[in-house]
Amino acid sequence: MCYAIPGNVKSITGDLITVDYFGEERKARNDFYDLQVGDYVYAQGGFVVQKIDERDAEEILDTWKELFFELKETDVKLSRLYNDKPNLDKNFLKIIDRATYGKSISHQEALRLLLSEDPDEIDVLHKTANFIRQKFLGNACCVHGIIEFSNICKSQCAYCGISSSNTTLKRFSLGTDEILGVVADAVKRFGFKGIVLQSGEDPSYKSEDIIGLIKKIRNNSPVFIFLSVGEREEAFYQKAFDAGARAVLFRFETSDSNLYSKLHPHSSLEKRIRYLELFKDIGYIIASGSLIGLPGQKAESVIDDFMFAKDLGCDMYSFGPFIPHPDTPLSGHDAPSAEYVLKALSVLRLIDPYGKILVTTALESLNPQARRMALMGGANSIMLNLTPKDYVNLYDIYPNRATVDVSIENQIADALQLLKSIGRAPTDLGI
Ligand code: SAH
Repeated sequence: MCYAIPGNVKSITGDLITVDYFGEERKARNDFYDLQVGDYVYAQGGFVVQKIDERDAEEILDTWKELFFELKETDVKLSRLYNDKPNLDKNFLKIIDRATYGKSISHQEALRLLLSEDPDEIDVLHKTANFIRQKFLGNACCVHGIIEFSNICKSQCAYCGISSSNTTLKRFSLGTDEILGVVADAVKRFGFKGIVLQSGEDPSYKSEDIIGLIKKIRNNSPVFIFLSVGEREEAFYQKAFDAGARAVLFRFETSDSNLYSKLHPHSSLEKRIRYLELFKDIGYIIASGSLIGLPGQKAESVIDDFMFAKDLGCDMYSFGPFIPHPDTPLSGHDAPSAEYVLKALSVLRLIDPYGKILVTTALESLNPQARRMALMGGANSIMLNLTPKDYVNLYDIYPNRATVDVSIENQIADALQLLKSIGRAPTDLGI
């Protein structure tokens, strides 16, 4: 099982290397290894995560060779852009035309697209987003694994089922050895090259324990580590970076400060954003975004969130639907439709042709076809759930989460089958 293609080091300038993949060159940062030109490496998220033996690399490349070009061909075929709808609104077409050249679209234009209710326009919007993804990013699709290691949380986010206000939920917290076991399996048995360590804001999990965990993971398993543990003391994040974590998944949840205050009585948008700035200063890769369809959120606010995330310099976008949880103050509200969220993700692709766009599990929970639809509408990243099955249901941020009852083997098989059918390589070649 392999989620990355080995690349051959072509040149080295300081800590920046150029890697060749069957004639395609990408850049990656090398923080961890002693490398020479001609070495083989795996890169993930723009970083070298593993140096590999030449013979092993050549064997793997041999199995990839035909498939690499086959997948590309399928993708190019499926993302071709043609307009078979002669009567589309001129103003709509003007926006679409500009976007296909990678030109940025304005707030007003993005809003025009998001508010469209015309099925022909929406179809063209999705196809354009897919075309832009193919043109600027190619057919690589990140496949990361997420481990939800604790549902203990001191915060009171009004939408979230693991909020400390939910006193009916049984709480759990995995020990570091248990997490190490899951990661070792994910990396060595299943071939994951990127993992997310996620939890509530769990004060019982000491920062030193998480830092120790990161160090052990780096020593035992070559993998790109994302942290998603929320607001901890600032010094923790520098130490975690020094220990080997290189990315954070940390949503700003909404860029509307009034709405933010209403939903997060324990914090403020200003504080949340200060963390994101801190992460950037330290050098982390940033994955961020917001909830789509929050009660009281207008379409303008969704576009504000997209523009905000782009200005922030996100490497990966994580925008997903709000899904009401019965044991929260927002239980009486509705989730947005999957169609609305899919439309929003396509608009996001037109706003930023280059960022990675994640298909969230929340979106997949609204509609089992949504993963495919989102990948065909501008998205290019997915996440599989590695949380041990005895605990995964307790990570109850919203009800009826997709894939919680599917074994990791089956999640992998489903993902690979889907990616193959739409010509995507389950890999991350870097930048
Ligand atoms: N403690 C971490 C991780 C939080 S849980 C942090 O603060 O970043 C991960 C994400 O789940 C949150 O960022 C939130 O956007 C999402 N989430 C929580 N409740 C949700 C709900 N009801 N519907 C959809 N997504 C939800």
